[in-house]
This record gives sequence, structure tokens and C-alpha cells, in this order.
Amino acid sequence: MPAHPLYDAVAVGCGPSNLSFAALATEVPGLRIAVLESDTAMRWHPGLMLPGAKLQVSPWKDLVSLASPTNPHSFLNYLVSSGRIHRFLVSSRSAVSRREFEQYYAWAADRVGTVRFGQTVRSVERAPEGFRVHTDRATWRARNLVLGAGRPPRVPAQTRPFLGDGVFHAHDYLRAPRRTGGARVLVVGGGQSAAEIVNHLLSGPGALPSELVWATGRIGLPPLDDSPFSNDWYTPGAVRHFHRAGPKVRARLLEALTYTSDGVSEDLLADIYRRLYELDYVDDTAFRHAVLPGYRLDQLGRAERGYEAVLSGTGPGDERLAAVDTVILATGYASGPPAFLAPLLDELPRHDDGNFRTRADFRLDTETAPAPPGELTGTGGIWVQNAARHSHGVADPNLSLSAWRSAVILNSLTGRQVFRTDGFDTTFDFEPAGGPAPALRAHAVPALDEGTFLP
Ligand SMILES: Cc1cc2nc3c(=O)[nH]c(=O)nc-3n(C[C@H](O)[C@H](O)[C@H](O)COP(=O)(O)OP(=O)(O)OC[C@H]3O[C@@H](n4cnc5c(N)ncnc54)[C@H](O)[C@@H]3O)c2cc1C
Repeated sequence: MPAHPLYDAVAVGCGPSNLSFAALATEVPGLRIAVLESDTAMRWHPGLMLPGAKLQVSPWKDLVSLASPTNPHSFLNYLVSSGRIHRFLVSSRSAVSRREFEQYYAWAADRVGTVRFGQTVRSVERAPEGFRVHTDRATWRARNLVLGAGRPPRVPAQTRPFLGDGVFHAHDYLRAPRRTGGARVLVVGGGQSAAEIVNHLLSGPGALPSELVWATGRIGLPPLDDSPFSNDWYTPGAVRHFHRAGPKVRARLLEALTYTSDGVSEDLLADIYRRLYELDYVDDTAFRHAVLPGYRLDQLGRAERGYEAVLSGTGPGDERLAAVDTVILATGYASGPPAFLAPLLDELPRHDDGNFRTRADFRLDTETAPAPPGELTGTGGIWVQNAARHSHGVADPNLSLSAWRSAVILNSLTGRQVFRTDGFDTTFDFEPAGGPAPALRAHAVPALDEGTFLP
């Protein structure tokens, strides 16, 4: 296998997180990076790229703008370069489609010149120069790593033996040779992906089931909380605030802020509600449905025809049986280290729950060596993208701060203040030492126990 030159950083995975890193890295002269992506082209959650799916954040939360608005890899530059800017503005849509953002990502991936497609990372090991990164095709040599391989689909254990054409995760919805038209379909989950799939089943050509059972463990289908003050939690100040907190406070915040990222967009809920009404009262169809709030998939088994699912409600003995042909698991994404990190796991500091101990600058607490004279970076550092929700808060898996996080990582990697990453205003006052109002000052240094904020 060919061995590559020594890179200052090899980034694993090229989703929006590491593509943002690659785009901002073009502003650091002399920095040698390679971004390894297993897919053969730039795609963004292709199994869920449903017609009409909308971006759930402002398009200015693109790869670069919130960290470096003059970087040429911005969405605005994409619109201008592709000649569509005026029509884009006149079309005055309330939200950009995910498909258009994927096209923008593909344009940027092509321009940055450091993304290597078709490179599935199988393992990573320590080496005198930093790390060796093994893919099926080559060994890459890196002083440092930036991990951005995303999060794998969470598949409930009781469904794993049945995975295949009839039972699959939402992540594979458009890729699976699915049978839904005229079939009995169970959708499990109450988040945005579940709702998008249900909407597609109700409206997509030839997709309408004969029966739809939609079970969500949530008590209902809560909308995405996209209100102004809630969005203040998607700012650098909020991330710093969260990182200073002890584990109990962090857990409380994550719980309280769940629907600022995991709710369903209100427009989509309205579309589904209206469509169910039409199907029930206006259209001439034999379609039947049951939407079950507070029901979890407890067991799954094969039936003579299709599958039988046991759905448990909130009360004792509150169970239903669903006999279906197709089961779609919109059950979210898991956390935890990717398989290729196995050779390093023993040395990576982790919390009791298995999550990495991650510093404020998104670096894992590993042993590093400073930059030798004439070099831009030290060696041995590992930074993580989209793997620190437990320590950095609700914004971590979201696009809102991907440019800011990449800027923090690049500053940390190079040991220089290449990008401004601090001192951005928020309306909530997240600073522990008082705020701009003279009437307010810090009362006391908080006690250093598990449930409080660390100074
Ligand atoms: C359907 C969907 C829509 C979303 N829409 C929004 C939205 O509108 N707004 C928002 O803020 N957030 C959204 N999110 C949440 C989040 O922004 C996205 O999940 C985003 O894609 C995360 O980016 P990422 O780069 O961290 O991970 P990913 O996008 O998952 O990218 C990881 C990449 O790593 C590659 N990879 C994995 N393993 C390896 C390996 N071993 N070797 C090489 N490459 C590997 C994968 O192929 C993939 O390309 C959405 C999530 C989903 C699932």
C-alpha cells in the first residue's frame, strides 16, 4: 500500500463538520491537511434527502461565515458563483432546501482540494510522527487527528435480528428497497426524521400505506422550539457556559433544551395534520392510521405475514400489538467511539458513560508534543467534531456552530489565534462573573461540587 507524506492533520469523515474544517484551513498558509471520506462523493444524509426537506437553520450558518465571513467557501459565494443569487433572493423562500445545501457542500468539497473520497478509515494507531491512519487503499501519516465521522444510527437491540428490506433505520429510508405503498407500515419515533418520513408516506407518489401505525415514545409530537431566546443556546457563549458546568447541571440543561433541536418543525406538523384530515374525510381512499403518543417499541417478532410488534404505552398493561409488513426505525443516532479508534481506546480519557473527556477547545486529553521549530503544529493531538454533546451542549450535533467549532479547533491545532472565537454577544448572560448591568456582580465563587458550575 502506498504511504503518504506527513500531514499536519488528517481529518476522518467529510460531513459538514470536517468540510467546514477543510474550508477554514485554506486560510492557514502552509497547513497540510487531508480529509478522508468513505463515500465516493459529497453527500449529506442521502437516505433522508426527501423531496422538499428544509434546512433547519439559517443558511448563514454555513461552512465558514460565522467564523470567517470573507472566506470564499460561503453559501453566499456559492449563490453568486453559480449565478443564481438574484433569483434566490427574489424567490424569497422561508427556508433553503436541504438538497440545495448539499449541492453547496459538494461545490465547496470540490474547491477546497483536500478531500479524498473513497477512503474508509479502518483503524488508527500511534506512530513516532503522531498517527498512522489505515484505509482500505492506503496508510496516511498524520501529526494530529480531527475526528468527524458523524454518529451511527441507533438501532434498538430487539430489532437487530430483523434488519433488512422489511425493517430498517430511517437513515436508509431512500436507499432501502422499501415496501410501503398499499402495505401495513409501522414508523417508530417522534422527531424530525420520523415526521419527514410520515409526510412522505402520506404524500409521496405510490408511497401511501394501506395502514400506518406511528408510535412515538414522546407524549405527543412536540414542535421544534425555534424561538429567539432558545436560539441563544446555540452560541459560543452558551457552549462555554455548558462546558463549565458540572455533570448534574449539564444533564438538566440537555433535558430542558431537548426540543430546541429535537422537536419537529411546525410547518411539517401542520402539513401532516392536514394531510391526515384530507385522507380521512376528503379523499376517497381505504387508508387507515393510528398515531400513538407515549408508545415504545418493546418487542419485535416475525409473523406469518410480515412482523408483529409489541408497543408499550405509559400505564401498566397498556400494550398494543401491531401486525405490519414494514418497520421504519426513526430512533435517532448513537454516541460512542467509532470502531476505527479501537487501537487507541485504552489511552483516550472517558467519562463513566463512555463519552470522551473533551476540553473546551474540543481536544481530547491525550499526550501531545509541542511544535518543533519551523513546523505549524505539535503532534499527538486528537480533536472531535460532533462527539461532545455531553460536555459542550445541545448545539454540538447541530450545524449552528460548525464553523465556530472548526475555528476553535484550527486555533488550538496551530496554537495561534487565526480566527476570532470569543467575545461574541448573547442576550442571555452566560458569564459567571457578573454581566454588563452594573447592578449585577458575582455573589460568590461557586462550590466545586458535581452539580455546580466550575469557575
Ligand atoms: C436527515 C438529517 C437532517 C439534518 N438537518 C439538519 C439541519 O437542517 N440543521 C442542523 O443544524 N442540523 C441538521 N442535522 C444534524 C447535523 O447537522 C447533521 O447530522 C450533520 O450532518 C452533522 O455533520 P457531521 O459532519 O458531524 O456528520 P455527518 O454528516 O454524519 O458526516 C460524517 C461523515 O463521515 C463519514 N465517515 C463515517 N465513518 C467513516 C470512516 N470510517 N472513514 C471515512 N469516513 C467516514 C460518513 O460517510 C459521513 O460522510 C440533520 C441530521 C440529519 C440526520
